[in-house]
Parts: sequence; structure tokens; C-alpha cells
Amino acid sequence: MSATTVKKKIKAGVSAGAQLIAKQRRRTSTPWAVVRGSAIHGRGLYAVKTIPDGTRIIAYDGEVITKAESDRREARRLAREEAGKDGCVYVFELNKRHDIDGSMSWNTARLINHSCKPNCRTEIVRGKIWIIAKREIAAGEELFFDYRYGFATWREHPCRCGTERCVGFIVAGEYRWRVRKILKAERVAAKKAERITQKRRGGV
Ligand SMILES: [Zn+2]
Repeated sequence: MSATTVKKKIKAGVSAGAQLIAKQRRRTSTPWAVVRGSAIHGRGLYAVKTIPDGTRIIAYDGEVITKAESDRREARRLAREEAGKDGCVYVFELNKRHDIDGSMSWNTARLINHSCKPNCRTEIVRGKIWIIAKREIAAGEELFFDYRYGFATWREHPCRCGTERCVGFIVAGEYRWRVRKILKAERVAAKKAERITQKRRGGV
């Protein structure tokens, strides 16, 4: 048996083992919320009772990975997105060296949708990412947190949250004014181009 075959066999064994663990893992659950169809995007998490301000609702569970592995998975995600398949981002920054990949089906918190004016926030407590109530949440309300995507990729993530803070794209709060400025400049340029076209048509 060649060395390459051995390596391949080991690799296959590891991934089969990982798959088994993934299957055996129970879905993360919370007494505070349930999964339901969302008005904004696919499915969402909804409060089943009044959630007091500051409550740790559910952990954003997943696989702890290095930044290098995170980059590899991001490249694969982009390829999937370009192929028209699911390009959702589930990787969460844990610290300077590690990220959490929460794309596994047992991570119920991955179904929480984004809002530019969310009712939840995230906090890392002893290596665990928690979704925490930002204010008192009424029974039946959908849970949201701010995905805080970076400035470099804002155009790839349209937002339909409809809140007054929304610029139409998912981007961290500190960049919203920049996105707003770019969009305004684009609108002005488009109007100008339209006027020029109309003038030309009128002149013929
Ligand atoms: Zn929004």
C-alpha cells in the first residue's frame, strides 16, 4: 500500500467519524424560544414567553476552528454561493486565533435572523458565544441579532429587516454611514445619467 493511500484512508476515517459525531449530537435547545417560519428569511427563532432583558437565551454552538481553516471554509462558501447554492455565513469570530463554524444542523442559533435594530446581542463568555436579550422580549417576537458583517463585503448581503436603521445591506453599525454615502452618490449619478439620456432623446 502506498503512503498516499494510507493518508487518504485516514482522512476518510476522520470525516466519517466527524459525521457520526455530528449525527449523534443533539440539537441545542432553549426553554425561551422555538423555530418557526420567518417573515424575513426562511426560518427563525421566536420567543415562547416573555424573555427578561439580559437573559442568556441560547449558545451559538459549533466547531472551533483555526483562522486558516476558517479561510479555507470561506473560500468554499464563496464557491457555493457563486454556483447559486446556499452561501449563508455561519462562521463567528471567537478570538484572534479561532473562529466558530456554526453551520451544523444541531446549532439551532444559526437560524436566528439578522436585524439592523436587533432585540438580542452576542457575548463571548468563557469561550462560548451567547445570544443575549438586549431588552425585554415579548412572547411571539422573532429573535434577531446584528450579524455585523465587515465593510469589504456589504454589497453581497442585502438586508430586508425594514427597520429605520437599515441601509438595505447587512453591515456593522460603524460602516452604515459609509454605505449610505456610497448608495446616495450612486443614486445621484443614476439620476444625472437619466437626465442626459432624456435630453439627448428630446434633442433628436
Ligand atoms: Zn437591515
